[in-house]
Amino acid sequence: MKYCQHCAGPITHQIPPGDDKLRFCCIECDVVFYQNPNNIVGTLPIYEDKVLLCKRAIEPRYGKWTLPAGFMENGETTLQGAIRETAEEAGAVVLPADCSLYTLFNLPYINQVYLFFRTQLRVLDFDPGEESLEVALFSEAEIPWSELAFPVVRITLEQYFTDRRAHQYPVRMFDLSYSEDRQLSTFLISCSAADLNR
Ligand SMILES: [Zn+2]
Repeated sequence: MKYCQHCAGPITHQIPPGDDKLRFCCIECDVVFYQNPNNIVGTLPIYEDKVLLCKRAIEPRYGKWTLPAGFMENGETTLQGAIRETAEEAGAVVLPADCSLYTLFNLPYINQVYLFFRTQLRVLDFDPGEESLEVALFSEAEIPWSELAFPVVRITLEQYFTDRRAHQYPVRMFDLSYSEDRQLSTFLISCSAADLNR
């Protein structure tokens, strides 16, 4: 960010009065541009014993498989965003009543929060959207584990197949972090009481 979105004045990187973090500030009109984490919302769509995955048609991770998910838009709820992304990326229609919050991930190293809703597909009707090369259903044995786009996708799928054997689907929150030798660590921070109804 070089110029102010309000007055086109020059932007500096400084700690505003009363703050303790570096911010982008406009010298001309004194506006402070705060940068905060982004929410990425998506679904884990299930049909019988299979889950739906999308093959990415965009970078990063072009050609890798992912769950339908994307950046939340202003003016929508997390669930609305997850349903919209599922329609856009997989062409699949998901009803709010069929969705349950399932996994939440904090990724402070890239300033992102991921939320996935577990959902049942009522009909087999899907199509790759602009951002997907292919959309397909996979049984547990068929999941392309080495071709998954993101750790949050792998962890959500691992949890799902484990939970399915126990017929219980608690909501879990994880923190992900990289150590200095670039090893990714996953920490389970909280786990709800099991949802026994589904
Ligand atoms: Zn300005």
